[in-house]
Amino acid sequence: MSKCRSCREPAVIDLPRHNANFCAEHFIQLCLRQMRRAIEDFSMFGPSDRLLVAVSGGKDSLALWDMLHMEGYSADGLYVGLGIGEYSDESGRIVRQFAAERGLVLQEIDLRNEYGFDIPTASRATRRVPCSACGLSKRHLFDDAAKRGGYDVLVTGHNLDDEAAVLFGNTLRWDVEYLRRQSPVLPAGGGFGRKAKPLVRLTEREMAAWCVVRGIDYVIEECPMAIGNRHLAYKEALAGIERSSPGVTASFFLGYLDRMAPLLAAAVEHDDPVPCRRCGAPTSAEGEDCAFCRLATTSSSHDPVPVRVVLDRRGRKAFDEQWGVPEGESDG
Ligand code: SF4
Ligand SMILES: [Zn+2]
Ligand SMILES: [Zn+2]
Repeated sequence: MSKCRSCREPAVIDLPRHNANFCAEHFIQLCLRQMRRAIEDFSMFGPSDRLLVAVSGGKDSLALWDMLHMEGYSADGLYVGLGIGEYSDESGRIVRQFAAERGLVLQEIDLRNEYGFDIPTASRATRRVPCSACGLSKRHLFDDAAKRGGYDVLVTGHNLDDEAAVLFGNTLRWDVEYLRRQSPVLPAGGGFGRKAKPLVRLTEREMAAWCVVRGIDYVIEECPMAIGNRHLAYKEALAGIERSSPGVTASFFLGYLDRMAPLLAAAVEHDDPVPCRRCGAPTSAEGEDCAFCRLATTSSSHDPVPVRVVLDRRGRKAFDEQWGVPEGESDG
């Protein structure tokens, strides 16, 4: 039986990238230390800030909410019902249960009830890959809820593996615009509030272990719309390299933040925003609807599209026969 590096009691988790094993208590301490370090290193927020945590029902966002709560932050949750069949029903149930058990404040937005569409329908109606329609909707609704609720910071549960996979994709394409903006904290500007990702120093496996150790129930199944998206392929590729070189994912992403991001960040500029004529959200085109309002208008007049996994022409799984080659960025 392996022993905890700190106290020599029996270990519950081995972390090859730290070349060590930990008992539950010292694993919790390690995770909290890593989160504190990210919050401090990037000046994400302070103890008096009001935080809004975007929670999906997955392990990362629930672990994040739990950790922030343990650290004494004032953090409310925001859950968006995306209308993705049973996956959404289960996610909503788990998030509500998590909040109720801990007496935390949870805000909810339901796309179908409040905006008249869901993600499968938006994807079909606008001919966007599902994760693109979903990401656009979530970004808009999170920003809007943070602003309306007077929160200082919107926080999301993107972990080290997520961020490394996005960096990997952006690097493969040398997408300099995205590389410039890939920071764990985005200051308020251009009509948007501050956003932060406090889990960027913690891996997916560590967050799953956090939930097990803390007895947190989370949605284990992947979203059915994620099938075939490029983000998952990049994650798998990095996981393969990580298996033979433990720690390489962390040094790829954290090294980028340390050495590359400061060089690129100097050039970030915000366009001067103008309000969307329909909802008032910042947008770039004068007298027009923002991208979310355009998506909502097109999608809400379309017949509802059920979630149905099909095989495409090459025999691969896809959510919709329209996506012969499904692709697109996932953001959770
Ligand atoms: S995988 Fe994530 S971004 Fe893509 S549709 Fe599902 S919930 Fe939305
Ligand atoms: Zn220990
Ligand atoms: Zn709008």
